[in-house]
Amino acid sequence: MNLDAGMLLSAIPPAYTQFPPRSLYLHIPFCAGRCSYCDFFSVRSTAYPQAPYIDALLEQLRVWSSSCGTNSFDTIYIGGGTPSVLDKRSLEKLLTALSTYAAHGCEWTIEANPESLSEQFLEILAESGVTRLSLGIQTLSVEEWDLLGRIGSIAESRAALERARTYPFDLSLDLLVGIPHRPGMANFMTMAKTQLLTTLSELAPQVAHLSLYDLTLEYGTALEHRVKAGELSMPDADDLAELRLIADEFLESVGFYRYEVSNYARKGHECRHNAAYWNMEPYLGVGSGAVSTLHLRDPDNPSMLGSLLRMTGNIDLARYTDNPSTIPPNIERIDRNTALFEFLMMGFRTARGVDTKKIEALFGIRLFSILPRTLARWKSELVWRGDEVSLYPRNFDILNRFLVECMEELS
Ligand code: SF4
Repeated sequence: MNLDAGMLLSAIPPAYTQFPPRSLYLHIPFCAGRCSYCDFFSVRSTAYPQAPYIDALLEQLRVWSSSCGTNSFDTIYIGGGTPSVLDKRSLEKLLTALSTYAAHGCEWTIEANPESLSEQFLEILAESGVTRLSLGIQTLSVEEWDLLGRIGSIAESRAALERARTYPFDLSLDLLVGIPHRPGMANFMTMAKTQLLTTLSELAPQVAHLSLYDLTLEYGTALEHRVKAGELSMPDADDLAELRLIADEFLESVGFYRYEVSNYARKGHECRHNAAYWNMEPYLGVGSGAVSTLHLRDPDNPSMLGSLLRMTGNIDLARYTDNPSTIPPNIERIDRNTALFEFLMMGFRTARGVDTKKIEALFGIRLFSILPRTLARWKSELVWRGDEVSLYPRNFDILNRFLVECMEELS
């Protein structure tokens, strides 16, 4: 079934969007290969034609943005997969079309991998208005690189970063911490600390933003099979906390601050697009497997205040390409309590914390009235700035315990 603009949301009665989304995510599901730890939705870039996919993506964007009452976005994020594997024609077509959706001052990010970051790719970005480049480096350690099964090489990563720095993009790097090791390695932590510090001290001075993610073992990945088979061991929670502390101290010493559990920036270079997710702003996601989250309101049903609509695009690429604007099979209505917990969970991941006024506006309730016990018990670990409350940044490691208490009190 194809839906025209307007039918999309009216097909989900009686709700409609309370706020039009101001952030746009586009998913490019192509990669040069499959990294050993990855369970993201992507296919080999040679396995599927790119041109029809880009046409479908733009058609979905046209229909869905119109349905949501917007044609202009403050942040645009092209992620994947690996957007830098797009061929010249597909990339130009995508970026030309997107430039008409970029609001004045739009933060416009694209992800890239070093081995496909060509001069031509960078020139097309610079001419199109892209403002931010996020490069997947992951590590500069040869041992860790081999375990991750990345395409390319460390030499290519260094060369790609050097190339990217000659363009006026705000540069961000993706790195991993907690990469597994061979079982029984007595000096594993000494090596892991050295590798982390070596990677950070070479890369941090060159950029303004770093995402440092804990490597998690995903079901069905090649890495998970190797860990299950006993060939590799994952670091435990204490090891991870020690590595994170080293990263925190080093990055702070060179001018970064940890503004979210996994993200560090120099002041003024925080990612606005990700902040929209953490602040529970509505966002539109287009492309196969992309997620959209919209705020719902029904004037005849006040209990809907604060509830969300979450839609995940069809991950069957052929079906998606044939009918890009069809209502996806996966639509989730998130009730107010669940949405409220999500709001707290996302907000407390950030150094800024949660905005209590926004809770009142979105959910019609006051934080003190729903979490009196937890707020009192954790008083010494919380910092208040006017209407905003957060955990002290040094307390990110107790985030999970704090959130469990929030959840228990909410329920
Ligand atoms: S490049 Fe990124 S999305 Fe593609 S397989 Fe590797 S980790 Fe996954």
